[in-house]
Amino acid sequence: MTDKNDLADRVVLITGASRGIGYFSAIEAAKRGAHVIAIARTVGGLEDLDDEIQAAGGSATLVPLDLLDGDAIDRMGGAIFERWGKLDGLMANAGMLGSISPVSHLAPKEVDKVFKLNVTANFRLIRSLEPLLKQSDAGRVLFVSSSSAYSCKPYWGLYAASKAALNAMAKSYAGENANTKLNINVINPGPTRTQMRAKAVPGEDPETIPHPREVAPKFIDLISPDYTENGQYIDLKNDGKTSPL
Ligand code: NDP
Repeated sequence: MTDKNDLADRVVLITGASRGIGYFSAIEAAKRGAHVIAIARTVGGLEDLDDEIQAAGGSATLVPLDLLDGDAIDRMGGAIFERWGKLDGLMANAGMLGSISPVSHLAPKEVDKVFKLNVTANFRLIRSLEPLLKQSDAGRVLFVSSSSAYSCKPYWGLYAASKAALNAMAKSYAGENANTKLNINVINPGPTRTQMRAKAVPGEDPETIPHPREVAPKFIDLISPDYTENGQYIDLKNDGKTSPL
């Protein structure tokens, strides 16, 4: 965690904030002065987050919400408008792995669900929140993706396809905003010690990969007004190497 104060008086929304990367990124953002709007379904995880943020002297608004519900995302956009009139940062982090399986064996319902969370929900967030992000003097959107979007390993087709679709959408969206104050970038966290990683690679010793607390500052740096790039892919698996999407 850092002692920067670059997010003072800024409002930042983080999805998937009940555990893992989103949870620790939310703490980092709050410590740097942001008011954090924390989204996830699990109320207990959000309450733990709130306790930690308050103990660190920060503030958060908890929004228990299922991102598969697009209308609820729209209602949330309206509520943010009423209360703050703007949004300075969106870290679109919530995601799911789905089954590691031969493509031909995937269950149609699961394919729909993974795409709905990893792709469509992020579209719904943009659709609902863009007017608020454009009220900010330096609106920042960070989509959390994966190297799977490029590696497309056997049996990882569902997750890989959803993250590739996310990257494609982010690239178009960044291009559309090349001449606005809104910047859009994509990050690959690299292997990180979370529930999702334990499900994806069950035989791995979790102690051999970074804890989300260690990587959180790198995420939050990218939603700071100090980060002025647009349309970049930041690869933490590769020492933070940055290349155009
Ligand atoms: P976790 O599974 O630990 O956390 C996922 C988060 O997403 C939880 O807070 C969960 O909250 C939330 N979420 C899941 N479904 C929904 C839903 N329907 N509505 C609202 N929130 C939801 O994952 P990680 O922290 O590991 O992953 C975060 C991001 O990083 C993901 O996009 C993932 O693809 C990506 N990533 C992770 C890597 C890793 O090694 N960990 C590597 C590469 C990419 P709740 O269940 O409470 O709703």
